[in-house]
Amino acid sequence: MALVGIVGWRGMVGSVLMDRMQAEGDFAHFEPLFFSTSNAGGAAPAQAKNERKLVDAGDLKALSRCDIVVTAQGGDYTTEIFPKLRAAGWKGHWIDAASSLRMKDDAVIILDPVNLPVIKNALARGGKNWIGGNCTVSCMLMGVGALFKAGLVEWMSTMTYQAASGGGAQHMRELLTQFGTLNAEVRALLDDPKSAILEIDRRLLARQQSLDAGQTAHFGVPLGGSLIPWIDKDMGNGVSREEWKGMAETNKILGRGEGFGTPAVPVDGVCVRVGTMRCHSQALHFKLNQDVPVADIEAMIAADNPWAKVVPNQREASMRDLTPVAVSGTMNIPVGRIRKLAMGPQHVAAFTIGDQLLWGAAEPLRRMLRLLLEA
Ligand code: NAP
Repeated sequence: MALVGIVGWRGMVGSVLMDRMQAEGDFAHFEPLFFSTSNAGGAAPAQAKNERKLVDAGDLKALSRCDIVVTAQGGDYTTEIFPKLRAAGWKGHWIDAASSLRMKDDAVIILDPVNLPVIKNALARGGKNWIGGNCTVSCMLMGVGALFKAGLVEWMSTMTYQAASGGGAQHMRELLTQFGTLNAEVRALLDDPKSAILEIDRRLLARQQSLDAGQTAHFGVPLGGSLIPWIDKDMGNGVSREEWKGMAETNKILGRGEGFGTPAVPVDGVCVRVGTMRCHSQALHFKLNQDVPVADIEAMIAADNPWAKVVPNQREASMRDLTPVAVSGTMNIPVGRIRKLAMGPQHVAAFTIGDQLLWGAAEPLRRMLRLLLEA
């Protein structure tokens, strides 16, 4: 039975990955070896079989024993460990949630309902490095990948509304703690129906603005009751790294652009962190290369994969089915608000949401693991 090293299993992505692997019976197909960067020697989780102690995630010898390593530990870990492991001659498969290796020539961005042919092609050529895509990009392609596959997209703009959990477990805690702090500040006034709303508003704002460095350690500024229009690093040209990933990864997943001999489809927009817990949402603007009726667009999206769900462009359906609260914890990728824009018949709007911890992170990793185990 294959020995599969699992690193980062207790983080945000790792916990969801463990849940999904448990739900799908994945552990029946391999012997797991659990690693930790903070608790080597501690007890491995309940899914452990013969290897019941946590192993130091920096132990190259232990990692080298594994046929496959699955990591959701993060980019710093990958940057430090992966090159050393390969340099030591390890020939196993590396499946990773972090972005560090995504754009390397020998790495495939995995999203099999969208790019199984790209994955199979790389497998046949001896590929060993399988990297989960950016969460926003993966969720978007699960929803509207059909339009790209049909060659209809001239360009796409995406304006995102991304959840706190995109930053990890500590970021979710920080947001919730801020909500609690803000609520506590005005609770007495809220309980009094006669209190003045402007007083509540003034006290709330004063509290938001006085949150100290400890209370904003992870996001850097308050997110509770606010938003942050910059995600990830500064590329130095006015573009955030999250925004850059939109075009680079969309094209790489689809097997287009540089390295594939076909022109890249322009994808660009502004990525914004909002105070939601889970799920990345995005407002899309497509310029199609022809005038396609809305009904045909809806039919293509609905037929593309079992998880993409068209939400009728109606008020009630949109309010009920097209929110992070409705989608969190589900595998569904609803796509709604599909309509022609005032700019012309080739301009189409859509709004889509995905639980970025599922299709945007954990699910492609566990599906790749199964593909390798079944190959
Ligand atoms: P995370 O929640 O911060 O977890 C990463 C590691 O942090 C854990 O494995 C754990 O390592 C350690 N950790 C420290 N304090 C913790 C605590 N209180 N609770 C849980 N773990 C704690 O990060 P993540 O969001 O899962 O992201 C992991 C990787 O996936 C990153 O490269 C990220 O970019 C990528 N990714 C994330 C998302 C997302 O939506 N969050 C989506 C796609 C990809 P030890 O057990 O070894 O201490």
